[in-house]
Amino acid sequence: MANLFQSVRGFNDVLPADAAAWQQLQRIAGEVFAAYGYGEIRLPLLEHTALFKRSIGEVTDIVEKEMFSFEDREGDSLTLRPEGTASCVRAGLEHGLLHNQQQRLWYAGPMFRHERPQAGRYRQFHQLGLECYGIAGADADVEAIAVAARLLKRLGLSGLTLELNSLGGADTRARYRAALIGFLQKHEAALDADSKRRMHSNPLRVLDSKSPETQKVLADAPSILDVFDDAARAHFDGVQQGLADLGIAYRVNARLVRGLDYYTSTVFEWTTTQLGAQGTVLAGGRYDGLVEQLGGTPTPAVGWACGVERLLLLQKALGVPTDRGDAHVYFCWLGEAAQREARKLAEQLRDAIPGLRLVLHAGGGKLAAQLKRADKSGAALALIVGDAEIEARTVQVKSLREGAPRAGTEAPAAPEFVAWQELAGRLAGLVRR
Ligand code: ATP
Ligand code: MG
Repeated sequence: MANLFQSVRGFNDVLPADAAAWQQLQRIAGEVFAAYGYGEIRLPLLEHTALFKRSIGEVTDIVEKEMFSFEDREGDSLTLRPEGTASCVRAGLEHGLLHNQQQRLWYAGPMFRHERPQAGRYRQFHQLGLECYGIAGADADVEAIAVAARLLKRLGLSGLTLELNSLGGADTRARYRAALIGFLQKHEAALDADSKRRMHSNPLRVLDSKSPETQKVLADAPSILDVFDDAARAHFDGVQQGLADLGIAYRVNARLVRGLDYYTSTVFEWTTTQLGAQGTVLAGGRYDGLVEQLGGTPTPAVGWACGVERLLLLQKALGVPTDRGDAHVYFCWLGEAAQREARKLAEQLRDAIPGLRLVLHAGGGKLAAQLKRADKSGAALALIVGDAEIEARTVQVKSLREGAPRAGTEAPAAPEFVAWQELAGRLAGLVRR
C-alpha cells in the first residue's frame, strides 16, 4: 500500500530554495509575453473529459493512457487537464473571444499526465504556453516562435535546436497519410505494438513513436515535404523566411509530428541534448481546425507550450545563475533596546526599498551566533545594532559575501558605521530590479 504520508508518485513539492528560480522564470516569461502584447488567461485545472478526447485525439498517448480521469459525485467524467490548448479554445468560445477577432493569450500552470516518472517527466508538471487566434498568415507562426526564442534567450538557455516541419493542410495530410500507410504496411513486422495498432487509425502518430526499432524503420519513410500542395509550401516558405529575417536558426525535420492530433500545418520543437531522453523543452504549432472542431467558426490558431521543470533543469545543467531566494540583509541586534530599534528600522527599510529581503534576527543570543544565522540566510550584508549604535544613531554594516557592495574603499575588515537616515540609500543597490 502507498505510504499515506508521502506525496503521490510523480507529484512533487517545490521547496523555497527552488521556488525562487520558478518565480524568476515566471516573472521573465510574463515580461516576454507582454513585450508582444499577449495577455494572460487563467484556466481551470478540471474539464469535461470529452473536451480532451475530442481535441487531443482518441488515438494519442495522452488520451489512451495518460489522463487522470474520474467520475464526480454526479457521475460526470472529469479530467485533470493534461495540456492547456483545449481549455484555452473552450474558454475562448465560451466567452466570445474568438469569433472574427485576433487574440494573443498566454497561460501558466500545472498539467497532469499519468506517465512513468523520471528526471524531467512527472505526473504533475508545469507548462507555460501561448495561443494566438485569428491570424492565418505565416506572420503569426513567426511571431509565436520569436516569443519562444526570446524567452529561451532571456532564461540564459543556449545550445538548443529548433526543429521545424509542416503537416501541410488537410489535402497534403490526406495524401501523405496514404503514402505513409503504404510504407508502414511493408514494414509492419518491425513496428512496436502501439504503432501496429495505430498504423491505420492514425499513421502520423507512428512517426512520434518512442520505440528505437520503429524509429529505425522510419528512417526510410516517405517525406511529407514531397507531397506539399502550393498553399502548404507557400505558408512553410513564409515561416522560414520570417525566421531567417529574424536570425532565428532552425533545422527542418520532415519526420517531426506532435503528440496531439490537432496540429494542421507548421509544427516545431526546441530540443536539447543535455536532458537525456526528456530533450524537448518547448513545442507547438498551428492548429487551424480545432476551434471549429469544438463548435466555433473556423478560426486560424497557432501556439506552443514549454515544460517549466525541463527549463529549470536545463538552467541547472548549463550552470545559469538563478535566484535562490537568498535574503539581502540580515539584521542583528544586541539587547532589548536594540531589538526594539532594529524592529522599527527594519520596517522603515522595507518601506523605503521595495523588493528588499530583510531578515530580522529573532531569539537573542551572542553576536557570533547571530552572524552564523546571517551567513546561512545567504544575505550579502549583516546589520548590527547595540547600545553604542543606538546612542550614535548608526548601524554597523558588515559585508558577508565577496563582491557585496561596500561604500567607497576597497579595504575589507574595518567595520563601517552608517547613519540611520543614510541606511536606505546604502542598501538600495542590493535589490536587483
Ligand atoms: P514528450 O515527448 O517529452 O512526452 P510531449 O510531446 O508529450 O513531450 P507536449 O504535450 O508537447 O509534450 O508538451 C509540451 C512540453 O511540456 C514538452 O515539450 C515538455 O517540455 C513538457 N512536458 C510534457 N510532458 C511532461 C511531463 N510528463 N513532465 C514534465 N514535462 C512535460
Ligand atoms: Mg508525452
